[in-house]
Amino acid sequence: MATPRTESQRADREHRRIVRECRAAKIQLVRFLYCGNDGVIRGKACHTRFLPSYLESGIGLTVAMQSFNMLDQLVAEGSFGPVGEIRLTPDPGTFAILPYAPHTARLLCDMTTLEGTPWDACPRSFLKRMIGRAATQGFVFQAAFENEFTLARKENGQYVPLDHSPCFSTIGMDSAAPVMTEMIEALVAQGVFPEQYYAELGPGQQELPVRFADALRCADNQITLRETARGVAARHGLLASFAPKPFPDQAGNGAHIHFSLWAADGEQNVFHDPRGRYGLSDAGFAFIGGVLAHLPALVALTAPTVNSYRRLQPRFWSSAYTAWGPDNREGAIRVPSQRRGIEMESTNLELKPSDPSSNPYLSLGALLAAGLDGIQNKRDPGEPTLVDPDTLSDDERRRRGIRRLPTSLGEALDALERDDVLRAALGETLAKEYLTVKRSEVRGFDGKDVAFEIEQHFYKF
Ligand code: GLU
Ligand code: MG
Repeated sequence: MATPRTESQRADREHRRIVRECRAAKIQLVRFLYCGNDGVIRGKACHTRFLPSYLESGIGLTVAMQSFNMLDQLVAEGSFGPVGEIRLTPDPGTFAILPYAPHTARLLCDMTTLEGTPWDACPRSFLKRMIGRAATQGFVFQAAFENEFTLARKENGQYVPLDHSPCFSTIGMDSAAPVMTEMIEALVAQGVFPEQYYAELGPGQQELPVRFADALRCADNQITLRETARGVAARHGLLASFAPKPFPDQAGNGAHIHFSLWAADGEQNVFHDPRGRYGLSDAGFAFIGGVLAHLPALVALTAPTVNSYRRLQPRFWSSAYTAWGPDNREGAIRVPSQRRGIEMESTNLELKPSDPSSNPYLSLGALLAAGLDGIQNKRDPGEPTLVDPDTLSDDERRRRGIRRLPTSLGEALDALERDDVLRAALGETLAKEYLTVKRSEVRGFDGKDVAFEIEQHFYKF
């Protein structure tokens, strides 16, 4: 543990580096960004002239923002209102010059108290806490979000997809090439590395899986990706929408989470056992068991909007049941086949009921909490499902312990409310406020039509 003096010296050095980089790039504005309970990315910017002092003290923010919902309403019954202040305290390691916004840079922030300690309603600090919990058990959590999103234009008040190209077709790649190439360059410039790219099944749908990273970096990368996709698309007169179901009855936008646990030295993938079934270790199976046990509650965080439940339907490859299986793309957890030559490194699990309207700090932290609970309690995931679980009879699913996932946000929130492990992991303040904010979203869309739901999600995510 570094002494406080050394820590503050290190922070000073980092702050001076950021100020130097801003000067060299003629940056005017530095955005201090965060993602709140509603999953919307927000922030405040300061002028670079005043940057040194804001790096030191953070930028002030009303506590009320953690009682805001995605309809941009301050929730009346929320815990936070007009009185009270926190600080957006930047993490210097997240500094990036934004390739899509002129003379602008950004920093990702923790929400801290006025004294500078983590605020107990801060999502990013929650993920750090879960990373710390894993570390005490000797684990490092590695993950990547595999984003799908929709490129579209707004014409006469309607969202019109960029194209109707066939799945994985080069027709789709070509029609999106100008915007996608610029997006990829912009991500690389910010230290986020897309590993593959393809035009997906849905209208105007793109998929851009990025390289895995340790959990905090992975969640930060998710903010970078959402911001960059939207920012670059706008320069081309397009919208990049991460709404879970941008067009009803068409393929939804998933943000499947690929993840693995590693030994603290980073050398050994704990999920990997060459002698295990599907190359998975006992710890890997127990992790699956934990995720499945908590899944109805977990989806309240990984598929956290009203629109998310329009996506989680059978036969859309988004998963709709608590089933798992090797390379089963209708399973909530897919065990991807390992890659020849890099068997250990490529051993991972994929969570399908996860979409890009989530707050990545909350969803990754909760996924880790569920999996660690599985390891601690040696939870049995049951038998793998080798077919589409929707093709099994109700009796057969019951026999195998396969449950339908919640079919609405309200149902998922009920499950979260009942889940002591996830609620305790979030901590009382964050759990209560998250539930309150999300319940208000359920009410906000109650009685409204599909068009309103889609409009609200289309441009905010
Ligand atoms: N678009 C599907 C989803 O909503 C995923 C398709 C796939 O990549 O398997 O999750
Ligand atoms: Mg896909």
